[in-house]
This record gives sequence, structure tokens and C-alpha cells, in this order.
Amino acid sequence: MCIVVTYCEYYAHRFPKKFVQIVHPLSTIFVVGTIVFFFWMQMFLIAPQVYNDFGYKLLWIVVIFIMHNILGNWIACYRTNSSVEILPKESQVPVPEKEHLWRFCDTCNKLMPPRSWHCALCNCCILRRDHHCIFMATCIGLNNQRYFIWFAFYSTFALILSFATFVIYFARVGCSTLLSPDIFVILLLNCICGVQRDRSKESLFQTTVFLFNIVVLLIPGSMLAYQIQILWRNSCYYKINDSAYDLGFLKNCKLILGQRGLWTFLSPFLKSPLPHDGTKWEMMPQSN
Ligand SMILES: [Zn+2]
Ligand SMILES: [Zn+2]
Repeated sequence: MCIVVTYCEYYAHRFPKKFVQIVHPLSTIFVVGTIVFFFWMQMFLIAPQVYNDFGYKLLWIVVIFIMHNILGNWIACYRTNSSVEILPKESQVPVPEKEHLWRFCDTCNKLMPPRSWHCALCNCCILRRDHHCIFMATCIGLNNQRYFIWFAFYSTFALILSFATFVIYFARVGCSTLLSPDIFVILLLNCICGVQRDRSKESLFQTTVFLFNIVVLLIPGSMLAYQIQILWRNSCYYKINDSAYDLGFLKNCKLILGQRGLWTFLSPFLKSPLPHDGTKWEMMPQSN
């Protein structure tokens, strides 16, 4: 896995334009495909067999709320710009007493505020840059990190819900493939030559989807684990243990999620302006 990530980073830095042209559309197809597939699988095939009438109706309400947050935060994250260029012209230059905190970007040929970094893929400097996300097809920075965090949260929640529904389904209906000790041999043989050693085709399909559910869960799950640490310390992806800007969890939440803090979990449409423009950062008081 590390080799894949390292190779991707190498390719992205060497051929940024090509990387964006190829990887962003593929990632978008993967996200849309996964969302549509699991939605269809759970709501129309698995859940009707697991829940009673009331439970199934309740599930629809929960799922609509989750989908609203997944899709809304995903679109808002992509559309929200965190580039230094969106600052008013007078804020793009430091006041003389803060100039020593700004760094020079060789690519943009100008000074950038503290905690900003240049992104080779976006080809601009990003305010309080966290990282470039291929699934969002943009950089995660000052203005859109709120949406990214809730996208990761609701995607993880949806896949855990899907996992739990599968477990109840298998417990009730039973699945000979899943309980078979040679489950991976069965799946491998099926992939290679279509050999059906299992009794039921349906059972094999459901087991494959169940395993895919577990693998896919690791993607938003790991994103969320990183983002919780970032919220906790007010750090960023590449300096996750940096506590220099840590002002306490609640204040960190307001600095990253906006003035409504954790209430932004309700909806991407909830207005939550940031208390600053990303050019001046309060640091944790140094203890002697
Ligand atoms: Zn730059
Ligand atoms: Zn970027």
C-alpha cells in the first residue's frame, strides 16, 4: 500500500496535469459508483428482508439524512475555494510586523501566509492547506475542511450501517459462503474461472459485496481518524502531531468548522462563517 501511495505522490509531482486529468475523473466515478451501488443494494435488496415495516420506513429517513450530508458536503467541498487568490488584494500582503511569519512561494512568486502551502496539482497556494484529496478532486484547506470532515464522517457512518445490516441479514437468512472456511478460495476461483463451488450464486454475490463493504469502509474511516486528530490539535495532515496552534478542542472546532462548531454536522447548508481569514494564526502560549 505504501509503495502505491509513494508511486502516486511521485507521479503527481512529476506530471501534475496528467495526474489530475486521469485520477480525478476515476476517483469521482469510484465515489459515485460506490454510493449508488450500496444505496441500491441496501435499500432495495438487503434492508427489506432485515427490518420490519416501521424499521424500514425509519431507515429511509435516516438514509435520506445521511445521503443529504454525503452528497451535499462532497459538492460543497469541491466548489469551495481555499486558494490565497480569493483573499482581498490588501490581505494578500503581510503587515510589516508579521512579514517574518510569511514564506515565499517559488512557483507563484509571492509571499504566502503562515500555514499556507503550494499545491502542485491545484497550481496555487492554499490557505491553511491540509492535503490534496483525489476523491474531492481539490485541495482541503481553510474554507472547505468543514465539508471534508463531515463527508468522511457520514461516509464512514453509512458504511458501518451497511455493514451492520449485512451482519443482521446473514444472521437471519444465513450465508453458506460467508461461514465457509475456504471463503477466499471460493471467491478467488469464482473471479479467475467462474467456478461455482458454492451452492448459491446469490450467496456468493452478497459475500463479495460484504467484503467489499469492509474494504471500502477503510477509506473514509482512515480519513476520519486523521481528521479527528487534526480537530483535536488544530494541526494538519502533514504535521499531524503539531500542537503549536492548539487552543483547546472547542476553540479548534470553531477555527476549522466555523462559528457553529460541531453543529455543522446537521447540514452543509448551515451557515457557519470562519472567525478569521487564514492569514493570522494565534499560537498556543509557550510554557517556560
Ligand atoms: Zn504557490
Ligand atoms: Zn491541491
